[in-house]
Amino acid sequence: MRTNTSALVHLTAEYCAPVWCRSAHTRLIHPTINDALQIVTGCMRPTPADNLSILAGIQPAELRRKRATLFLARRAMVSGHLLHSALTCPPSRNGRRLKSRHSFVPAAQQLFSSPDNKNRNAGLWADHRWNAEWLENTTTLCTFMPDIGTHPPGTALPRTAWVRLNHLHTGFECFRSCLHKWGMASSAACECGAEEQTVNHVVLQCPIHQPPHGLHGLTVLDDEIIEWLLSTCPEIQCDQAVNCYNSLKQ
Ligand SMILES: [Zn+2]
Repeated sequence: MRTNTSALVHLTAEYCAPVWCRSAHTRLIHPTINDALQIVTGCMRPTPADNLSILAGIQPAELRRKRATLFLARRAMVSGHLLHSALTCPPSRNGRRLKSRHSFVPAAQQLFSSPDNKNRNAGLWADHRWNAEWLENTTTLCTFMPDIGTHPPGTALPRTAWVRLNHLHTGFECFRSCLHKWGMASSAACECGAEEQTVNHVVLQCPIHQPPHGLHGLTVLDDEIIEWLLSTCPEIQCDQAVNCYNSLKQ
């Protein structure tokens, strides 16, 4: 699903991106990209977009477009390239032909002059920028993923386990408290007697459903926690809940 999303959604959404990516209308394609990332990760609709990118292992759309711009700009610095003269000898008025447009040349020069560029190739620059942005993130997922690794945690697990892990890591889950709000459960109470069955209650306090090793177990991912995710976690069938929630919100 991740490979298909990269090939079908992102490549289509980024076709010739260095030309149009500074338009005010660019953000109109973000909901479609986020929908695709929700399908890949099995996450709920309110999950922050930056969390979806991290869990899917696909860089945020805006960063990918800047990477494409930098990639093209580096190629254009080679003598003989079609854009070489435009980039090295920009026209007057800061390279802008129309007042309402942000053209390629000033954007490329801005990327060249950014302090984190340091002659990295476009891919390394984007990786570095993504990591730096993630270090400033304050969402729940940062607790489990302080920096961006090559593969998001749990991607080798069976899908049901990975989706449940994503819900627990992001804090947007399908436990009874949420199901009750959506009209899918008669009560928000947990079987242990607690008034609300939330992710914090299940992971930190619940005497019946708490995962092995508690919160720490969600980072270790040993055999016990995988078994818990697959068969003992009280969350209802994830895809069913996600589809129901998303249809309620549309
Ligand atoms: Zn409980």
